[in-house]
Amino acid sequence: MPDQKYDVAVVGAGLLGLSTAMSLLKRYPKLKVGVIEKGSEPATGQSGHNSGVIHSGIYYKPGSFKAKFCVEGRAEMVRFCEENDVPYDRCGKVIVALREEELPRLQSLYERGTANKVPGLEIVSAERVKEIEPHVAAIKALWAPNTGIVNFVKVAGVYQQKVQSAGGTIHFNSKLNKVVRNGQETTLETSGGAFGARHVINCGGLHSDTVARMMGVKTDVRIIPFRGEYFSLKKDAERLVKGLIYPVPDPQFPFLGVHFTRTMKGFTEAGPNAVMATAREGYRKQDVNVADFWGTLAWPGFWRMARQHWKTGVMEMNRSYRKSVFVRDLQRLIPEVTNDDLTPGGSGVRAQAVDRKGKLLDDFKIEETPNAVHVLNAPSPGATSSLVIGRYIVDLAARNFSLG
Ligand SMILES: Cc1cc2nc3c(=O)[nH]c(=O)nc-3n(C[C@H](O)[C@H](O)[C@H](O)COP(=O)(O)OP(=O)(O)OC[C@H]3O[C@@H](n4cnc5c(N)ncnc54)[C@H](O)[C@@H]3O)c2cc1C
Repeated sequence: MPDQKYDVAVVGAGLLGLSTAMSLLKRYPKLKVGVIEKGSEPATGQSGHNSGVIHSGIYYKPGSFKAKFCVEGRAEMVRFCEENDVPYDRCGKVIVALREEELPRLQSLYERGTANKVPGLEIVSAERVKEIEPHVAAIKALWAPNTGIVNFVKVAGVYQQKVQSAGGTIHFNSKLNKVVRNGQETTLETSGGAFGARHVINCGGLHSDTVARMMGVKTDVRIIPFRGEYFSLKKDAERLVKGLIYPVPDPQFPFLGVHFTRTMKGFTEAGPNAVMATAREGYRKQDVNVADFWGTLAWPGFWRMARQHWKTGVMEMNRSYRKSVFVRDLQRLIPEVTNDDLTPGGSGVRAQAVDRKGKLLDDFKIEETPNAVHVLNAPSPGATSSLVIGRYIVDLAARNFSLG
């Protein structure tokens, strides 16, 4: 017998799970909502291991979920922070072109951002870049004055309070191990007890595909974990960075290239790179989980992805193991930065969905089944977009579930 019964159980207390639960309770205040989380606090996954950037929506294909959710999400995130006293800084970001060959790609980023209705975008000259970021070497840049920074763990903490004060329950230390379907009810067997639910929303981040499969969904994607490693700038080198400094990204790859990020945690970071991890929670190079790694190797899409992107993979491994290579890439953005300015920082692991053909899914992927919604791909800018994604999931639930 389940210990508790819910109308809706949300798996995962990251930004998306909590935002969804918050939005559900706002729209249906009488609903019994339970959040099931394997960690001992909110945001122990990607939500607590990211760059803390409130993205403005430049990179994403016009009309995509990412474009729409990020642009709306940024504005809402800023409003949310103001209303709830979460400190944030609209410090602005430059995407810098270092060589003539990068100018057409810089121009297309400007056009994408403009098509996505990102406010305030401007292509600026080398002189203007020097005013914005005095230590950057650029021939031109795309200036995005509305990009900002926030500590997303603090944001998740406010989401948590709102869920709980609206009557929702969060079960920490409850790892979902098995799902049993029994007529109209689903039983979620976890390490913290069994929970009954009429409907389930899967926001399991790095494990969302596993949770979907546990629920009988034949999904055609697999999460492949990509670790992002950071260095921190030493205190006396922090003067080199005023806001956010990014390279022009490789259009073949969904990651943004190593960059400099001022954070709201009181330090400045450089990174993250993007190295395939051998464990879903592989925060350190030596972390290996045999089941996770075997699952990756057994996925046909992995081998196709490896064939297409092996050169990038080798380059990323080289940069991961050799600080000098990492530093060299950073020196392209800020020539003054040296090896001694950087100390090893933290890391995060991206839940990147890869399909059977080896394609790294670019857009958010949210799948519906009769009694459930599954978030199967929500990498960056998922944190920025979390309020809007939560509301979108509730729209799907309102349409598919009997919540009234
Ligand atoms: C290195 C890095 C940098 C990033 N930078 C940015 C950025 O600057 N700006 C931005 O907007 N986005 C950024 N992102 C993306 C952003 O962090 C994610 O889109 C967002 O956090 C996704 O939230 P989530 O709730 O889906 O996943 P998560 O935060 O990963 O939450 C999933 C939760 O599910 C729980 N869970 C998993 N399996 C189970 C189970 N079996 N039982 C119970 N609980 C379970 C996990 O413990 C976890 O708490 C970055 C991500 C990474 C990794």
